Amino acid sequence: MTSTAKLEPVIGLEVHVQLLTNSKMFCSCKAAYTGAEPNTHVCPVCLGMPGTLPVINEKAIELTVMTALALNCTIATNSKFDRKNYPYPDLMKGYQISQFDLPITNKGWLGIEPENNVTRKIGITRVHLEEDTARLIHRIDVTGDTYSLVDINRSGVPLMEIVGEPDLQSAEEARLYLTKLHTILQYLGVSTGNMDEGSFRCDANISLREKGDPLPNWKVEVKNMNSFRAVFRALEFEISRQTSLFEKNEPIAQETRGWSEEIGGTVSQRAKEYAHDYRYFPEPDLPPLFVEKEWVKSIESKLPELPDARRDRFMSEYMLPTYEASLLTSSIGMANYFEEAIGSSDLTNTQLSDRAKTTANWIIGDLTHLLNNSSSTIEESPIKPKYLSELLDLMDEGKISVRMAKEIFEEMYSDSKKPSLIIEAKGLSQISDGEKLQSIVADIIASNSKAVEDYKKGKSNAIGFLVGQLMKETKGQANPKTANQLVKSALDAIK
Ligand SMILES: [Zn+2]
Repeated sequence: MTSTAKLEPVIGLEVHVQLLTNSKMFCSCKAAYTGAEPNTHVCPVCLGMPGTLPVINEKAIELTVMTALALNCTIATNSKFDRKNYPYPDLMKGYQISQFDLPITNKGWLGIEPENNVTRKIGITRVHLEEDTARLIHRIDVTGDTYSLVDINRSGVPLMEIVGEPDLQSAEEARLYLTKLHTILQYLGVSTGNMDEGSFRCDANISLREKGDPLPNWKVEVKNMNSFRAVFRALEFEISRQTSLFEKNEPIAQETRGWSEEIGGTVSQRAKEYAHDYRYFPEPDLPPLFVEKEWVKSIESKLPELPDARRDRFMSEYMLPTYEASLLTSSIGMANYFEEAIGSSDLTNTQLSDRAKTTANWIIGDLTHLLNNSSSTIEESPIKPKYLSELLDLMDEGKISVRMAKEIFEEMYSDSKKPSLIIEAKGLSQISDGEKLQSIVADIIASNSKAVEDYKKGKSNAIGFLVGQLMKETKGQANPKTANQLVKSALDAIK
């Protein structure tokens, strides 16, 4: 290896997603455990007591089939569950019920757009089902000794694993894949997708190869990444770490490494496991899983509109540019908010396109800014979509200026009031009445002879100064369009 110019990263992601079911994967305990007292959502099955029998949660199968269909996978009519054996204190039975050689779904793809309008299909190896483990909480006692507590509430929560092909070639592509997958899950409503709470977890496999070479027969697995940013940074770090080892002709160990936020790098954790380390064998307590084609068809017919389709519709129906349409549909909350704010109206095409563009700008700009400042989601927005729509109507009718609208918008955010009530309370309406403005225009022209002279000499920007004076005089309440017209015709009337 002499030059690294032709090196390329080979990245595949494994994503674990907790499913939004009422009960756990193999027992009737409540699956939602966030905020619950430790060890309260437990029963003999998820505690791993000998002699208990698991029962498959049908809803978890349905949500997995939904996801797999959205990821263009084929659904297997026959599949089965297997035991994955490994000893760890968070694994109550000493094995995890998972799927090995006959997963419920196979071979699909997810489209990402590293460049505008160029879709790259990233392969999905499989989507399968398993159960989550308990949670370990590590503590230090007064003497400085460490000890661990076990919370079994999470044990047995349905966990869907989405295994991606090693088709990703950069940290940026991995970020695009992950955010796209997250958005699709959000649209499907199969998971909260909350990364902080661990409902959406990602492990990455990464290695390097020379361009054109076959896939490397080694890989480094990176774990412990709790945000999209952490995944991106960990991959960037690994690419540069592995590149420098490559350059020095040093071997790269096949191992599992953990991302450390404190160090800003990955650290070696253990040698990478192979499938044979887990001694997989068929779960004897569960029958094989038969999925009927008719049932799959009925799930398929109920699939919601997915992000790409919604983006394309936003572009055709509302004539939005690609950037705005992509941004709005990147979150189901934002897309829904937008469509509620647009509402159903009898606007002409041009009016609809203008209104859509303005609405998109207010959502992407001012609203997102205020939401970010208060760490709120769009679903929690104090400004309801219909109030944004009302505000834009008031602007279109010339009752308020853009500047006033921004002021009213902030008020709406802090007290959730209708814009018309705020305007009334603050006496903020715009003066569009020509007669009322006319007399103010006359005063301004009379007291600014220098600007009038300049205008007559051909300095057309003098008009801006006079309009500015008018705005000052009316405390910004003059309709700018009317003001401009009045000042111009008043000046032109002077011989
Ligand atoms: Zn249970």
